[in-house]
Amino acid sequence: MRISDTSPLAGHTTLGVGGAAGLLVEVAGATPAVREALEAVRERVGPQQALTLLGEGSNVVVSDAGLPAVVVLRGGDVAAVEEGDDAARVRVDGGMSWDDLVAWAVARGLGGIELLSGIPGTVGAAPVQNIAAYGQALSETFVALEAVDRVTGEVRTLDAPACDFGYRDSRLKRDLADRLVITSVTLDLARTARSPLGYRDLERRFAEHGGDPDDLADRRAAVLAVRRAKSMVWDPEDPWSRGCGSFFVSPYLPREDAIALVDGVRGEGAGERLFAWYAGAEAEQVKVPAALVLLAAGFANGDRWGSVGLSPRHVLALVNLGGATAQRVADVASHIQGTVASRLGVTLQAEPRFLGDFAAFDPERFAAEVDHEPGADATPSWARDAVR
Ligand SMILES: Cc1cc2nc3c(=O)[nH]c(=O)nc-3n(C[C@H](O)[C@H](O)[C@H](O)COP(=O)(O)OP(=O)(O)OC[C@H]3O[C@@H](n4cnc5c(N)ncnc54)[C@H](O)[C@@H]3O)c2cc1C
Repeated sequence: MRISDTSPLAGHTTLGVGGAAGLLVEVAGATPAVREALEAVRERVGPQQALTLLGEGSNVVVSDAGLPAVVVLRGGDVAAVEEGDDAARVRVDGGMSWDDLVAWAVARGLGGIELLSGIPGTVGAAPVQNIAAYGQALSETFVALEAVDRVTGEVRTLDAPACDFGYRDSRLKRDLADRLVITSVTLDLARTARSPLGYRDLERRFAEHGGDPDDLADRRAAVLAVRRAKSMVWDPEDPWSRGCGSFFVSPYLPREDAIALVDGVRGEGAGERLFAWYAGAEAEQVKVPAALVLLAAGFANGDRWGSVGLSPRHVLALVNLGGATAQRVADVASHIQGTVASRLGVTLQAEPRFLGDFAAFDPERFAAEVDHEPGADATPSWARDAVR
């Protein structure tokens, strides 16, 4: 455990913005170490002081004013493996890096999380928004989590029904937000069964580069290659990954509205094709990829507002182009949400969590202070094809 005073937080986040923590406690491992860290915070700042928990900081926007007290839980390992005939039950420390766990599982021939390769963050944060990609979600393999209750200090276990997982959602974002520190996660990983590959990006990758779509290592390699091409793997050397991944959650819209929106971006008939595959012919409300919503509202890859822009490689990623403030990130996000609402009547929710104090958005001040440089390039074809 490492304790420091007045520590800058920007370096603890992938977006690279945010002020300092009055008190920063860094801890690795499992329940006993986390309890000790929480106790250290309590002794120094008292039980009432707001405490913020971070993992790898890949889904947060920390305010420029910083935060009073932060515990960063990073580091850990696979703690236990129970071998079965068709599956293995694994218990993993909350601070372990998620992608290290995927690499570990794939190397042992254990499937169920291989399409989640390359997602930044810790294992402990993964249940919070039920991480998902390429048609696979954490909830499909999740058995239970163990957590320390920040209020009572008790160790609690939650199974999947108790987490009430949804799309980018769980109880850990609702009534249990800021209540639990997840110290371990247990998953059932399959030896043989493979989830279907339904995404065009992945199919195209296999068609062009070969590989066995049922082989776990080939699946992982294909996902990593596709994600890297979009800067969706966190890499300090890649400026387009300096963000939080997708910044907005895909909204659910009435089927007819969704079809009209997609047709407007991709041509007549595209909406019917997309939703026949993606949502089933019967669904009345369908999830519209947020990337298409942004394109329909007139945004484009590479749009910039000073130090914050939309990645040229992934229109849904808000990136820090260098020297951005958290307030500028928040203002650009609000500007996008406001424009989408007024042009399309669609409400877009931000995916990352905003931590600390932000000034309310003032559209007139924003327009006066910030120049908009349109993306140089029209949307590249792979971005239009990001969905089927
Ligand atoms: C380039 C890039 C690509 C991404 N791609 C995807 C993607 O494909 N799919 C996807 O779902 N997400 C994606 N994300 C978002 C992010 O990777 C996930 O949300 C990840 O789970 C966040 O983990 P973290 O450790 O960084 O959490 P943080 O950002 O540190 O924290 C996020 C939230 O979880 C809470 N939290 C953190 N650790 C714990 C814990 N141990 N116990 C309880 N609460 C905790 C925090 O308090 C905070 O509210 C991407 C992000 C980036 C930067």
